[in-house]
Amino acid sequence: MNYRCLFSILILFLGFAACTSEPDPEQQEQKFKQFTDRFVEALWKQYPQWAAYNGYYKYAAELPPPTNKTRGFALNWHKAYLDSLEQFNPEALSNNLKSEYLMIENMLKAGIWQIEEFKSHEWDASQYNIANPIYNVLLAKSLPLDDKMRNISTLFKSSNTYYEAAKKNLTDPVPELLNLAVQQTTGAVTSLTAESITDSLNASSLSDEEKAEFKTYQEKTRLATKDFLGFINSLSRDATEPDAEFRSYRIGEKLFEKKFKYDIVSQYSAAEINTLAYDRKAELHGEMTKISREIWSKYFPEKEAPSDSLVMIKQLIEKISERHVTRKEFVNAIRKQIPELTAFVNEKDLLTLDPKKPLEVRETPLYMRGFAGASISAPGPYDANANTYYNVTPLDDYSEEAAESYLREYNYYILQILNIHEAIPGHYAQLVESNKSPSLIKSILGNGAMIEGWAVYVERMMLEEGYKESPEMWLMYGKWNLRVVCNTIIDYGIQTQNMSEEEVMDILLNQAFQERAEAEGKWRRATYSQVQLCSYFTGSTEIYNFREELKEKLGDRFDLKAFHEAFLSYGSAPVKYVREMMLADLDSIFPEHSVQ
Ligand code: ZN
Ligand code: ZN
Repeated sequence: MNYRCLFSILILFLGFAACTSEPDPEQQEQKFKQFTDRFVEALWKQYPQWAAYNGYYKYAAELPPPTNKTRGFALNWHKAYLDSLEQFNPEALSNNLKSEYLMIENMLKAGIWQIEEFKSHEWDASQYNIANPIYNVLLAKSLPLDDKMRNISTLFKSSNTYYEAAKKNLTDPVPELLNLAVQQTTGAVTSLTAESITDSLNASSLSDEEKAEFKTYQEKTRLATKDFLGFINSLSRDATEPDAEFRSYRIGEKLFEKKFKYDIVSQYSAAEINTLAYDRKAELHGEMTKISREIWSKYFPEKEAPSDSLVMIKQLIEKISERHVTRKEFVNAIRKQIPELTAFVNEKDLLTLDPKKPLEVRETPLYMRGFAGASISAPGPYDANANTYYNVTPLDDYSEEAAESYLREYNYYILQILNIHEAIPGHYAQLVESNKSPSLIKSILGNGAMIEGWAVYVERMMLEEGYKESPEMWLMYGKWNLRVVCNTIIDYGIQTQNMSEEEVMDILLNQAFQERAEAEGKWRRATYSQVQLCSYFTGSTEIYNFREELKEKLGDRFDLKAFHEAFLSYGSAPVKYVREMMLADLDSIFPEHSVQ
């Protein structure tokens, strides 16, 4: 029995039956909003470091030791909030709040599953890294310097109990994750005494006493981290013994399906998505073969096309990749494309773009460099008024050879697709749209498969609508799309079907036309993580298939712009929920044509 029933019975018993008829919907909404406010505050208290990551620093000095007791508290916390949540009837809430309800429910159930069944605290050594919370605070934009230093000092104080608990947890470590942890912890030992910390301490107005205390705990933390490094190093060495029996990084089908269910929240199972990915790979290969046969002689007039179609495609892609901008022009080339994309979206009436919020392209700030060449940097939920930027890293630090390789990868064609994905109508447009109905819950619990799925979906949609369309563009799109398709295939294959490194390399190099360095990096990533690599293909497939489903169902009532705008209006909720809500609302999204 849930509380709602109990409550009604009590009231009946007391003779107030009249008050128990259908609760006032407005009151329900109000109550639910009050609940989510309480929930978020409690969530941050429960997960202080997740809060800091989201820009909420009230509890940033707290680093609970990952003990059994802490996990027991967490389990109770999740169960208690699940009970309170279930007092609401999601069907009585508006669409927007109903999807918040479902997202909270999923997050709480996932948390319980994580503690009771997934138990990564026992086998993933890489989750224990004290440098992460410390740098979260150090790099916080909204915290005054003195507060930062006091928070860090308190974090340092917790390091001993933190690492002692971590050591106890690691009863069944995965060797590959031990190696990753060794690499990261080695870095942490150095970064804990980095100049940036010393400089910040000196620049602060902490008293001499506080500064001395800070330094004492800093040194203790360095020693505790070194001790933990010794511990995982020796486990890692044990794992190389000839008859060592260690846990495999492959989590197996059962755990993978569950993790997929909680992380992705899809109408498909992981096994179904894997099958769809193989189908899509075959479809792309078919299309790319056809294009390659048609344009081969344009690029190789003297040479006969190889009979193996995959070899033919690969040679053609290499040739076409020679069309690229110069390294000096790289940032500018991207900047120039943004207005072209905007004009195309407007002209084809694909989506209403907010002219008051033009996207600003900038060179990636120095502190953020070292990762992807281009990314959207959006303000966090507690910093909503800050600007959104499209960061592009100039190729200044690259050697001549590395720059050439990078520019071939992001050649004339791929660069256009990248901008569609990152900017317009991809991530940036989705973000502007979802900020129109700001929701803290959706911003915190935003669904990665929906967000990435949208950006991947619009790549194809823009080409279908004719954006800079040519056989070469479609061929390069094929290569680009094979990346997300094969991410799914290798993630599922490695984690649930014993796929070998050799098979993975064959898929990435010969069937997805990737460079060796990229393929090797992908193999390593796929052994460290599970499910995340499936999010791009799953989300985009769900959106694309939903669109085709509606086209079929609605015939000439279907309208692409109405589809896009309705789809984005629910915020970053899982595609599965958006689909359900749209299906319940088709008549207002796609009104009958009026008789002219
Ligand atoms: Zn070149
Ligand atoms: Zn993306």
